[in-house]
Amino acid sequence: MRIPVNTASHQYEVVIGNNILTSAMESLHLHLPKEDKIIVFTDENVWKAHKNYFTESFPYPFEVFVMPAGEECKSFDNYKEANSFLIDNKCTRKSLLIALGGGAVGDLSGFVAATYMRGIPFIQVPTTILAHDSAVGGKTAINHPEGKNLIGAFYQPKAVIYDTRFLSTLSEREVRSGMAEVIKHAMISDEIWLQELLSIQSITSIADEQLASYLKAGIEVKANIVAEDETEQSVRKYLNLGHTYGHAIEAAAGYGGLAHGEAVVIGLVYALILSERYGKISREFTKSFLKFAYSNGYPFDAVSNYSFDTLEPFLVKDKKVEYGQLQFVLLNTIGEPFIQTIEVSECREVDLEYRALLM
Ligand code: NAD
Ligand code: ZN
Repeated sequence: MRIPVNTASHQYEVVIGNNILTSAMESLHLHLPKEDKIIVFTDENVWKAHKNYFTESFPYPFEVFVMPAGEECKSFDNYKEANSFLIDNKCTRKSLLIALGGGAVGDLSGFVAATYMRGIPFIQVPTTILAHDSAVGGKTAINHPEGKNLIGAFYQPKAVIYDTRFLSTLSEREVRSGMAEVIKHAMISDEIWLQELLSIQSITSIADEQLASYLKAGIEVKANIVAEDETEQSVRKYLNLGHTYGHAIEAAAGYGGLAHGEAVVIGLVYALILSERYGKISREFTKSFLKFAYSNGYPFDAVSNYSFDTLEPFLVKDKKVEYGQLQFVLLNTIGEPFIQTIEVSECREVDLEYRALLM
């Protein structure tokens, strides 16, 4: 199955299916000059779980650079190491980089691809559910000690090859984290789809085919938005639903303390409470969503673990702060997002309301 992504700067396809690595790579008809290398960037967990399948299925010779897993791979140090690997391997402007991994590997690899010799081609081969989101749309970044994703570029891949076979080895926590972005895509686009997701008993045990159809739907939502607004001047901001408060709590917990999607679900609840004030979301809906998320193991303890005073400096440092006011994506109704600026004092009030709801 192929989903076109037509951005202002570049057109490419997301190919999704089970066991498709070989056929999808071959269908790209790469014409690589002999001297040019293919370099695979991956992390230690992914390589351990999928080295055999990847090596057997990837149809071209390649060199592999195995990085530390998680946010560690998005450090300045690793960015330098990764570039040194390309230099040591005499990579040219035409060398091809493959990002084999989750969002962290994808973000780092994309940023290396965007900047090595001012830009080399790269292909995303996502291996997490979360990466149905991160691998599409061309946002690439590394972290600064002062904040996540602060250094980056918009740089589109040549293709995204989403072989769902990789997903079989994900931990329950990573499945839960990835489903957060699926839920977010449903919330900003389609009430019926969202209701279907919220009726699932256990979000971590969805049957493979069903999961693939949700991932496809999520990618379509993202592809449509990115086609309209590649560099986040307007509608792309809607993809940040849940991420303002989510990023603050993710940062407060120290990267890795909370999985990205766990923090996003915590942030979605916050956005729903705010949406009761500025949109038509009912308290009843917020409570039912909270119940669903709680029963599916999203770690709301984190909210009680960090006071608003701890979160505030992270909130105001967010990239979504414009002219000193916090920008939140809220919902008028499900499927109808809008942007609202909120004063920090109101953020504090809503934070208190959130804590009361959790008691
Ligand atoms: P990740 O890459 O850190 O993967 C999570 C964990 O799962 C890691 O420990 C990894 O080693 C492991 N893993 C990956 N694939 C596996 C597999 N198939 N089997 C077993 N283990 C596997 O992170 P993620 O959760 O995929 O993504 C989070 C990152 O994505 C964050 O850095 C976030 O900022 C970024 N992100 C980027 C965008 C974007 O648009 N660029 C969007 C959302 C999130
Ligand atoms: Zn996200």
